Amino acid sequence: MSYLTLKNINKIYPNGYHAVHNFCMEIEKGEFIVFVGPSGCGKSTTLRMIAGLEDISNGEFLIDGKRANEWGPRERQIAMVFQSYALYPQMTVFDNIAFGLTLQGVDEEIIEEKVKNTARILGLTDYLDRLPRALSGGQRQRVAIGRAIIRKVGVFLMDEPLSNLDAKQRVTMRSEIAQIHRETGATTIYVTHDQTEAMTLADRIVVMKDGYVQQIGTPYELYYKPVNVFVAGFIGEPPMNFIRGVVKNGNISFGNNTLELGKRLGAKVGEYEGKEIIFAFRPEAITLESEADAYQVEALVELTEMLGDSVNVYITAEDEKAILKTDPHDMPELDSIISFSIPYKDVYLFDGETENVIL
Ligand code: ADP
Repeated sequence: MSYLTLKNINKIYPNGYHAVHNFCMEIEKGEFIVFVGPSGCGKSTTLRMIAGLEDISNGEFLIDGKRANEWGPRERQIAMVFQSYALYPQMTVFDNIAFGLTLQGVDEEIIEEKVKNTARILGLTDYLDRLPRALSGGQRQRVAIGRAIIRKVGVFLMDEPLSNLDAKQRVTMRSEIAQIHRETGATTIYVTHDQTEAMTLADRIVVMKDGYVQQIGTPYELYYKPVNVFVAGFIGEPPMNFIRGVVKNGNISFGNNTLELGKRLGAKVGEYEGKEIIFAFRPEAITLESEADAYQVEALVELTEMLGDSVNVYITAEDEKAILKTDPHDMPELDSIISFSIPYKDVYLFDGETENVIL
């Protein structure tokens, strides 16, 4: 039996807006789950229904196999860390972390031991006597996390916890959150719109769009086996390249390129004759040499971006545009025509109508 079960969860707000549709998932103890998707896709709403801060309009939420829809936040044994880490400004770090336990009337010695242990996990031991205003943004966020993890709860919910930090702090804090998860082993559900955070932190990612779950899988599965164009385009930076075309004589054409789809699709290519198809490949899946078992494509170089470890090359062939990621040591020249290879096995094909993956 899974630890948390979401069965056909729906949220319809009082104004009639249907924010979450039939969300289904089983979550195991100790998993780090990330909900990712663009702003407004229903991530926070789902998290708040799990927390008990928002009613579930339809469907069933189970904790350890027991229906928990009607349970209050406390009964659910859940702690939540929000975007704005509201700390008590007049209290020291120690008192902020201890706050929940103090309220519960826990014995002082036990509080002291627990706060010290939590501070050690979070690297806050030297800051326990400070007030929040004498801490950096990252340290404050760690105090907020400390306040949540000191309570022995079953699940941690985090809603965009890093969004108030600058880019560098976010990267540091991200690895710290991964470390904290490793030490505590706590089941965690984390909401973000940032695919890099999702990829680096998650055991499993839930990709959402317009209130619907698009795909649930490990970072590897989402990257290499996306189920549709949305997931394929959302995960990965620069994003996957998509070329739309109608299949004619088993080929799709753009610019000077005629690509034989049978090379990828085999005998199935006949089923797609006359239909719209999306030919797709990741920016890094190419080489600038001519390879065997690969599509050869010609295109014009419009722009290059030197990133140090790689170069992003923006290319165009008739109306189609794509980005290639190449070796920094052989950067193509601007306005030149280049030829590159995309191995057949690295090409994704999507149905032009449903946008679902074909292979
Ligand atoms: P996300 O966390 O993915 O950015 P939210 O879960 O916050 O998205 O919101 C999902 C959708 O529900 C959005 O379109 C938002 O405007 C809408 N929404 C959120 N809260 C309410 C509310 N109280 N009443 C009506 N609509 C809401």
